[in-house]
Amino acid sequence: MRWEQLPTPCYVVDISRLKGNLEILKGVADRTGCEILLAQKAFSMYSLYPLIGEYLSGCTSSGLCEARLGAEEMGKENHIYSPAYRAEEFPAICGLCSHIIFNSFAQLEKYGPAAIERGRSVGLRINPQYSTQEAHAIYDPCATGSRLGVTLENFRPDLLENVEGLHFHTLCEQDAYDLDATLEVIEEAFGPYMERMKWINFGGGHHITRPGYHIEVLEKCIRRIQNRYQVQVYLEPGEAIALDAGYLVTEVLEIVKNGTDTAILDTSAACHMPDVLEMPYRPPLRESGEPGEKSYTCRLAGPTCLAGDIIGDYSFDHRLAPGERLVFEDMAIYSMVKNNTFNGMRLPGIAVLEEDGECRIIKEFGYEDFKMRL
Ligand SMILES: *Cc1c(COP(=O)(O)O)cnc(C)c1O
Repeated sequence: MRWEQLPTPCYVVDISRLKGNLEILKGVADRTGCEILLAQKAFSMYSLYPLIGEYLSGCTSSGLCEARLGAEEMGKENHIYSPAYRAEEFPAICGLCSHIIFNSFAQLEKYGPAAIERGRSVGLRINPQYSTQEAHAIYDPCATGSRLGVTLENFRPDLLENVEGLHFHTLCEQDAYDLDATLEVIEEAFGPYMERMKWINFGGGHHITRPGYHIEVLEKCIRRIQNRYQVQVYLEPGEAIALDAGYLVTEVLEIVKNGTDTAILDTSAACHMPDVLEMPYRPPLRESGEPGEKSYTCRLAGPTCLAGDIIGDYSFDHRLAPGERLVFEDMAIYSMVKNNTFNGMRLPGIAVLEEDGECRIIKEFGYEDFKMRL
């Protein structure tokens, strides 16, 4: 089908852009020997897992459902980390995952023996207590009192006997200089233990596919750690895999006037782009400007009853009218995986834009998808 025929609202993943990102990531893996995993938390569009699996080493998960999806749909290396596992799920996790990462020595003592019994590689998440970001406090695992990872103070070298890997995840949308600084702190604190490991996982938050990212600095970091400690380095980016590789196509339903104009769309910030409210940020919109930049400024908002369901203020070359289509950019990551049916909002369809310009619908949703969760 043609782009104009897509039903709205609809997420559309751009295959040529996705492939562009995957080529960049595969280049890093090929040149350094590191392994790169898809962090499914950011992007779980499993119809594309066979394609992603052609470029990456496998998946990482935050729990049983993601682990099962990765095993069923990609079927390559399957890692898992969770702040706390459930006893009734742990046997299934051991069946699905090659690498199992624990958040504390208490979890290691509780579940480690079962994982080792099944021949799984066991790791520990550490918290180097070194923040390299201020912008996104809710995405900072090194914030004071963080529950994510073992601090040096709580580290138990006496329990490391069967631990093969260390894992850290402290970055969010950052360049490689922040990784470099983090590694220096980690080596200072945990260096003696790194020598005893088989692998080190650098987590996610590496904005590798962003224009201007310093890939050569990242590769230097990977080589340094691999050579100094004789370990396998893993990266598990989420964002970088589908960064700027998808759209959310929406239609203007109505214009409300109250001082300023507000266009009510058939998509909702609260339901379909929750990071816009959570982070918060103003998503890029095709053929638009900053408020006041072009001749017609308009607020874009969702059709829910939440007063704050506002996407942002934009300007256009013409007055918006009901029936018109708008295209939000960079809507592949942290969108589909986070959407919800609050207020009975319909979930956006899921489609791909093929390299030849054709669109293909993967999935559409309706009333049953709202009802089944209640
Ligand atoms: C969220 C997360 C990732 C992926 O982070 P991005 O910012 O999407 O690259 C990787 N590892 C862990 C443990 C995470 O929590």
